Amino acid sequence: ATMLESFPNLRRTTCPYCGVGCGVDAQLSVASDESGKLFQQLISVSGTPEHPANFGRLCVKGSKLAESNTLNNRMLYPSIKGEKVSWDKAIATVASRFTDIIAEHGPDAVAFYVSGQLLTEDYYVANKLMKGYIGSGNIDTNSRLCMSSAVAGYKRAFGADAVPCCYEDLEQTQLLVFTGSNAAWTHPVLYQRIERAKQINPALKVVVIDPRQTATCDLADLHLAIKPGSDAAIFNGLLHYLDSQNALDTDFIQRHTEGFVPCLEEAVQWCLERVSEFSDVPAAQLRQFYQWFMHARRSVTFYSMGVNQSTSGVDKSNAIINCHLATGKIGKPGCGPFSITGQPNAMGGREVGGLANMLAAHMDIENPAHRALVQSFWQSPTIANKPGLKAIDLFDQIHQGKVKAVWIMATNPIVSMPDKDTVAAALKQCDMVVVSDCAASNDTLSFADVCLPATGWSEKNGTVTNSERRISRQRGLLAPAGEARHDWQIICDVAKQMGFSGFDFQSSCDIFNEHAALSGFENNGRRDFDISGLGHLSLRQYDNLAPIQWPITQFSPEGTKRLFTDGRFYTASGKAQFIAIKPELPQQQTDDAFPLILNTGRIRDQWHTMTRTGKVAQLSQHIDKPGLHIHPKDARKYLIKDGQLVKLRGKHQSEQGNEAFCLLTAVLDKKQRRGELFAPMHWNREYASHANVNRLVAAVGDPISGQPELKAAAVAIEPWHVA
Ligand code: SF4
Repeated sequence: ATMLESFPNLRRTTCPYCGVGCGVDAQLSVASDESGKLFQQLISVSGTPEHPANFGRLCVKGSKLAESNTLNNRMLYPSIKGEKVSWDKAIATVASRFTDIIAEHGPDAVAFYVSGQLLTEDYYVANKLMKGYIGSGNIDTNSRLCMSSAVAGYKRAFGADAVPCCYEDLEQTQLLVFTGSNAAWTHPVLYQRIERAKQINPALKVVVIDPRQTATCDLADLHLAIKPGSDAAIFNGLLHYLDSQNALDTDFIQRHTEGFVPCLEEAVQWCLERVSEFSDVPAAQLRQFYQWFMHARRSVTFYSMGVNQSTSGVDKSNAIINCHLATGKIGKPGCGPFSITGQPNAMGGREVGGLANMLAAHMDIENPAHRALVQSFWQSPTIANKPGLKAIDLFDQIHQGKVKAVWIMATNPIVSMPDKDTVAAALKQCDMVVVSDCAASNDTLSFADVCLPATGWSEKNGTVTNSERRISRQRGLLAPAGEARHDWQIICDVAKQMGFSGFDFQSSCDIFNEHAALSGFENNGRRDFDISGLGHLSLRQYDNLAPIQWPITQFSPEGTKRLFTDGRFYTASGKAQFIAIKPELPQQQTDDAFPLILNTGRIRDQWHTMTRTGKVAQLSQHIDKPGLHIHPKDARKYLIKDGQLVKLRGKHQSEQGNEAFCLLTAVLDKKQRRGELFAPMHWNREYASHANVNRLVAAVGDPISGQPELKAAAVAIEPWHVA
């Protein structure tokens, strides 16, 4: 507080781009408009020196936050079918259409599709409205595309969605295994921390498991260039190897876990030779990795989209967790399976039940006791009694006409979801599409019946939780642009108009207090998500809240760095669960007509669908157009030259009689494996037509998590010749 008071032009907030959750110092100044009216301006940003996520660092994207924070492409007023309307009219229209559709077709005929960009307070009220008042589980989020497999993996193993580690573990470990992560580009500040730790301690070993030789490999002592999707076999093989070398922590297994025998029975079928054949990695390299894991007293496995975005993503994460449980490398400094989220508030959304199968405070929609507890706390008229539709199914049910109204908040599913053409067809024929966003134009907004202007990053005020469970404040720096309102306000306005009580919040602080109270409410010793130790915060305490890691209880008022330090887990028995894993390759495989596998992903300087980073010219200097990375020998085979436009068609679309295609610029790249392609997912129609590569991905997901397989689509390519 003293710091803020003595620097009135400085405001501390959090970066909105990725799950690292870096602290940002925003430099502000006061200016006046033509009429002499004073207003605040954002001048520049820098990393907050004391923030425990970044200690003063920012990556390229984060350092350009001030430049991207312009009114260019901002939605400034509500509209219906393109006509400007008052807020009252917009709210009344949304409330009455939702009410009518629910009355006629039941609560499951409506849905919310929200975003890891929302703050925890926004998420909380959206979830409360849908699950406690409308009475449906139909609220899902773009975090489904990002980390839902990791969530399900944690729940199976630990009994709760609980990340064991903290960022310090990345520096304190002896062996860091990146799998399915190009952290150098996607979580740059964590990568920088690891880079520094390796400089200080050259004995820190880094292994990268990834089909591509990415920028993260610059730090690697060993790179395993696996066949796409073969991660689970690598970790089953590791478990088998450790067992064969008597390198398991039998005491930990006996005292703190269950299910080891069937898990090992599966793993012992994965000898080095079989793993090598399945994963396409030489046995000598596998042995090297396995030996390092065996000899390291401390090791962390850092995983992200490459593991999660898969039809067997949950199994992959459990294959990783199994190895940590079997060696007791969990709940100790420098140890643990560590899933890193993509979106800045994917974790905060999880805490308040932002996924279709969850309730607030990490409770389960399918557990009658949890439902009763949440309903009695809310004193709500109803409570959803079954999980709602997950993202792929949600758009499918809209397409089939079963869901008749959808409210999309702060996301652009036309670009980010797989099989764009089905998503577009669904929205086109949906009775009522509401989009609340800060952007004035994106590929999804063109399908909206009602557009509602929401505040953007520099105007929003609330909390986010990063990948290490750390809650940080995003603070409002500037007045809302135009007529924009906060997401939580818009949701509460609609709820009240629908006749519901329980939405009379005056501030995001009020919502946070209710959320914290629910987390400790009659929790009967549940420790998996409790922030009741923060007490009831005053507005001033809330505004000054310093970054802190949950759980925060009366016994750990300063928060909790690491979970499971006492070897107790959140399952009924208190023991962690081994899960027997049968490794599987991606569901979609190549054939003669579609002979190549397309991996979609991210580049260093763009965020999501470029609605903000695309505004900053400097951020296009690194990579200025959507490239298709292809091995030079494959390029020769398909008569493609470097820099030439390439036409891609997807097997999934072709099977549906859809002639859709993408056009990308060939980048000849020896770091690609033969037969495999890589393309970034960011480009939307504003920056390049026909570059939306997720449209070529099949809408298939993990059977447990529902996370789409965005890393492996069978495609055909040919040179594009302009007629
Ligand atoms: Fe923002 Fe992530 Fe970069 Fe940190 S690493 S500055 S949170 S984009």
